[in-house]
Amino acid sequence: MKKKLVSILLVLGMLPAFSACRLKSRETSTRRTRETTKATTTEETTEETTDEPTERTTASATSSSETSESTTQNQTIPAVTPCATVNADFKAPDPNCPIEYRSEDERYHYTMELQLDPDKRTVGGHVVCEFYNNSEDDWDKLCLRDYSSLFIDSKTAGYDTALDTNGALTEITNIKDGRDDSDLSFERDSDVSVVWMPLSKKLAPKEKMTLSYDFVATIPTVADRYGITEKVYNITNFYPILAVYTKDGWSHERFYDCGECFFSEVSDYDVTLTVPKDYTVLSTGTSKSEEEKDGNKVITFDAPCVRDFVFCASPDFKMFEGYYKNTKIRVVYDQAHPSTQYMDEVSEACIEAGIDSLAAFGAAFGEYPYPELDIVLATIAAGGMEYPNLIICTDMNYYCMPIADRDRVSDKYVMMSTVVAHEIGHQWFMGIVGSNSGMEPWLDESFASYTELVYGQYIGYDSGYSRRYMNLVDMADDMKREGSAPINRPYYDFSSDDPYINAAYFYGQVCLYQMQEIIGQEAMYGVIREYVHRNAFHNATAKDFFDVLYECCGKDNKDLNDLIAVVFDMDRVYN
Ligand SMILES: [Zn+2]
Repeated sequence: MKKKLVSILLVLGMLPAFSACRLKSRETSTRRTRETTKATTTEETTEETTDEPTERTTASATSSSETSESTTQNQTIPAVTPCATVNADFKAPDPNCPIEYRSEDERYHYTMELQLDPDKRTVGGHVVCEFYNNSEDDWDKLCLRDYSSLFIDSKTAGYDTALDTNGALTEITNIKDGRDDSDLSFERDSDVSVVWMPLSKKLAPKEKMTLSYDFVATIPTVADRYGITEKVYNITNFYPILAVYTKDGWSHERFYDCGECFFSEVSDYDVTLTVPKDYTVLSTGTSKSEEEKDGNKVITFDAPCVRDFVFCASPDFKMFEGYYKNTKIRVVYDQAHPSTQYMDEVSEACIEAGIDSLAAFGAAFGEYPYPELDIVLATIAAGGMEYPNLIICTDMNYYCMPIADRDRVSDKYVMMSTVVAHEIGHQWFMGIVGSNSGMEPWLDESFASYTELVYGQYIGYDSGYSRRYMNLVDMADDMKREGSAPINRPYYDFSSDDPYINAAYFYGQVCLYQMQEIIGQEAMYGVIREYVHRNAFHNATAKDFFDVLYECCGKDNKDLNDLIAVVFDMDRVYN
């Protein structure tokens, strides 16, 4: 899905820092506008730190033969005068405002006892999911998504979404409806990742239910967002998870390997995970305890107010740490199989890009609301992939080669740094504000791609996406000819991967940047901050964004209207 895109981008002379598929900022047109130097030292550590967290510092934790020099800078968003059509009564939350968790009684709750078994290539265990009917309809069945089963060989009868690897159908057993302890059964859709569970007793609106089940998922030996490479285990989308019930019923978008159809409700996770005792684990949430038991390591995790739980594990991780305010940032790579000799420096660059991203996005959209953020450098086919509190970025070696004559470490690895920024941007657009990534892929990918530019502005790069150089209004015919416009369509509505990728990652990114140019940076960040706060920890649609945009700017701004008209199908937004 992704590798061919790299070559396309290289041919175009673009900088291929890209997400699940791609991202781009023209290196030739980037322009450094502000010099920032920052001393950083990063050393190997695998232990918790007791250092006092400091804003904008990169620091290794426990070993301190070299003392890291912290740099605290109050980098604020430069004031930009909004255009005259911005509504003076529109009040957005302040920059750097906190983002409050959704109330506990509205969150689902997963309790999971999991085992990773490298010998059998499995991850499995017991899951208890407490939830309620959050719709106005009776539910006579549940829908779960079992993405792990997608990794079966396509010859397995009856399923047409197989990924042709050495995975297996997930075993799901001992399924119970906690209301009367009755047994439930399930059946799979033709999309093997869709699991239907008929209920013997309907679940009424607001009624609570506890669903429990055992599962065993087989982990494929593939270099992918879910898979094993050497001794690195990327364990993501691995357990059957409750789907989202929308106004159109249970959402079960067909799986598409070039994008995502992951869509779930905000939940709390209490997880107990057993792994071999020499494994290091990074995950969603934070580890609360760790002990050795029967030759294994047993770790407990607490992950409140997130949409999923994932982890990456390996006996070969080398770890680096830094802080942004009270958030710990960790980076790991496979030191037994480093993709280049520069991996320590690449890891430093990722810490630095992580700190800058959290600082830039906290100012623009509201502060990152979690105590940890993990960055796993791993061999995956995509440039990167986003999960709650954890991102996986590729270690493909051209991302890990330094560019000469750059003094700042994150500048030396600007391709990797931009991937890091994009995936961290998803913590707001996917994580905090959820959306249906199958039906409205632009709503998380275009925003995450736009965050690359917010990051770029923060560190002093100009994207070159100004209307002075490439006005999307003048490019309307090109967009239509290649099938990319309008961008707000489900991924299956595009004729192939390329127009979809151009729409979700490129035109959407440029469009949001040019909206910013039209209404002013301060106004644009205010609109997005308000959109984030109204929809934090809920699932949003395009209408939620445009409602805020129009509240701020009205509907009489000709430049804005012209831009929207060529990029979006507004009937679809307000339908
Ligand atoms: Zn993305």
